Amino acid sequence: MHAINATHDPSLRSWVGSANRTGTDFPIQNLPFAVFRRSGSDEPFRGGVALGDQILDLGAAELAGVATGVAAEALAACAEPTLNSFMAMGNAAWSALRKFLSEALRADSRFAARLRPAFVPQKAAEYALAARIGDYTDFYASIHHATTVGKLFRPDNPLLPNYKWVPIGYHGRASSIRVSGQDFQRPYGQVLPKGADRPELAPTARLDYELEVGVFIGAGNQLGSRVPLAEAEEHVFGVCLLNDWSARDVQAWEYQPLGPFLAKNFATTLSPWIVTLEALAPFRAPWMRPAQDPQPLPYLDGAALRTAGALDIQLEAWLETARMRAQGLPPERLSHSSFRDCYWSVSQLVAHHTVNGCNLEAGDLLGSGTQSGPTPEEAGSLLELTDGGKRPISLGTGETRTFLADGDRVVFRGWCEKAGYVRIGLGEVAGRVLPAAPPS
Ligand code: MN
Repeated sequence: MHAINATHDPSLRSWVGSANRTGTDFPIQNLPFAVFRRSGSDEPFRGGVALGDQILDLGAAELAGVATGVAAEALAACAEPTLNSFMAMGNAAWSALRKFLSEALRADSRFAARLRPAFVPQKAAEYALAARIGDYTDFYASIHHATTVGKLFRPDNPLLPNYKWVPIGYHGRASSIRVSGQDFQRPYGQVLPKGADRPELAPTARLDYELEVGVFIGAGNQLGSRVPLAEAEEHVFGVCLLNDWSARDVQAWEYQPLGPFLAKNFATTLSPWIVTLEALAPFRAPWMRPAQDPQPLPYLDGAALRTAGALDIQLEAWLETARMRAQGLPPERLSHSSFRDCYWSVSQLVAHHTVNGCNLEAGDLLGSGTQSGPTPEEAGSLLELTDGGKRPISLGTGETRTFLADGDRVVFRGWCEKAGYVRIGLGEVAGRVLPAAPPS
């Protein structure tokens, strides 16, 4: 687990002015990674680090000229069009580059004049997925989500008996994952109309979002090897925001007995910026299991987990309807929850995923599952917020929603704050629903 060090020092300021503004997601204490290029250009995509409203171009020659040692090797990997090689280098390289960048970008750096040309404004950039995602696994790690959804699908038996023992997950589809800004057509699927005795093929009428944390695997493990819980975080590069768009009517019809399939794999959207676990070090919280619940099996338990295994990441879901856009109105917040309330930690997800010898690889993505908190307002999906579509939400425009309408744009935001430390953010992930059209 990462120690708090000089890169987290709350007194650090940067010579990049916008990084010092109160409330920025990207102060010098954060230093998250993305893959970007200038918007509309045919430049190659390459790695970048966010600082204030700017991006430090990790492929810039100015930067290569001042780095040495492991930091220089890490920079060379970050100049590639995906960060897989950098992710695979492991924690020593990530940490060395973070230390180098923290020193080179702080107010008293002697490199300021030299590095100034290596920045691109965020508003002039477009992003790509930070990694070539080989495999994607989505978990179901919020017990509050699992219980509420379980009640809707199985009123007498909401939480299945394995839930408190096994981090439940399914293998998702990597090919339809896109970076923030994804617009997608309302998908078609097989649905069973109410009261009907046979299904039909139709555009989903119950399109939903799922507010999730995405976890990028860095250094992988060999097939046949296990990642022990105590070492699990060394395999985690960082986290982002993830929207697991879901067609609830398709899901309800298809999910038994093998779990989600076409209800989930038409679109998944990620925030561009990946915040490293090292950057999150000040925002850890004890991982706790209620005394009346079964305690985890030994391979999913440990001292570091109990002390600081949870991450206190604030999460919000916002909705912008087509009418809000047309009337120039701001999006409305639908929910706020914290990743701290997750039933399983990131380290437990990794340890469990590899307990049978399954190999994780650099750039693999884990989804946390919908992050709902203990109260109904903290629900991370419309399915929960509207009680399965039975209680519509009223919006300031006079519109109501049970599920998403065409033109709706969903935005998630995430950040961490704690007294004595500088607030850091995950940025945002946005995606928009377009009208249904049969796949061409
Ligand atoms: Mn999900």
